[in-house]
Amino acid sequence: MRALRLTAPRTFQWDDDPEPLPGPGEVVIAVRAVGVCASDIHMYSHGRIGDTALQSPLILGHELSGVIAATGLGVTHVKVGQLVAVDPAVPCGTCEPCSEGNPNLCRDLRFFGTWPYDGALRERLSHPANLIHPLGESLTAVDGAMLEPLGVAIHAVDLGHLRPGCSVSIHGCGPIGLLVLQVARAAGAARLLAVEPIPGRRAMALKMGADHAIDVDGSQVEQILRWTGGRGVDVAFEAAGENQAVEDAVEVAKPGGRVVLVGIPADDRTHFRASAARRKGLTILLCRRMRHAYPRAMGLAESGRIDLRTLVTHRVPMEEAPHGFDLVERRADGVVKAVIESSAS
Ligand SMILES: [Zn+2]
Ligand SMILES: [Zn+2]
Repeated sequence: MRALRLTAPRTFQWDDDPEPLPGPGEVVIAVRAVGVCASDIHMYSHGRIGDTALQSPLILGHELSGVIAATGLGVTHVKVGQLVAVDPAVPCGTCEPCSEGNPNLCRDLRFFGTWPYDGALRERLSHPANLIHPLGESLTAVDGAMLEPLGVAIHAVDLGHLRPGCSVSIHGCGPIGLLVLQVARAAGAARLLAVEPIPGRRAMALKMGADHAIDVDGSQVEQILRWTGGRGVDVAFEAAGENQAVEDAVEVAKPGGRVVLVGIPADDRTHFRASAARRKGLTILLCRRMRHAYPRAMGLAESGRIDLRTLVTHRVPMEEAPHGFDLVERRADGVVKAVIESSAS
């Protein structure tokens, strides 16, 4: 079975791996679609994400769907041949955060494609059956791979305590920002403003429901404040992984407002003007993956209220997966989301 491993920054090798077998309560998935995430790109470009470094070759990829190829003992809710989305996070289930209902904060989390845990860029893999979600009939394998980032966006909006009629700014319109935008709109935000330096992504934000989309040209804070009559927005979402976006989000949130930080900074540091945050008594929330958001992600995707397909600008065959990473790293060719597809069964 073929598997693609990152061995050093920007360097992949194809390996011949042993076939996975389903243990009790597990299934084997034949991988069909894997999204390339900005977090994969941190590992790809620098061999690290935050304080987690690549210490041995690693299979990347955590946004995936596939077809059930085999089921282990005791698995009843999925059948061989079913198209499914795969929750890539395996929490221990027993630590204090898990017991408190925060499996996303598990102290012993095994997460696909985060060293030392291999991810999805291989032909087949085994996984606990309780983390498998059969796809609704209207959804494709590529849609299924988008449920993970959609789940992250849902979690971010949950953290923002978005209320009907509120005003929202979104700083950074990559895949996550554009999903946050759409989920915020579905959750009842009345006014949505997107901030993004790449023109094509601003156009996409407008298409996906932003009232305004503005450039990062040094006047963005002033523009947002003017747009809100000087009041500021109820909730500001940062989804750029750039510190400028964090600074802007803090500056434009209203007194008593919320700022949700979703992006991952390359230099592992987040900073903002303390007085701006303190005087306004802001609530600043850090988004860590998601908390049981798959059923809602599935519901939103099936309802058609969220446009996943326009976000997928590039579909790359598995054999050319390294090209997909290069494309996303360079943000070349108008890429928003690249999904790697496998036709092998
Ligand atoms: Zn991701
Ligand atoms: Zn745990």
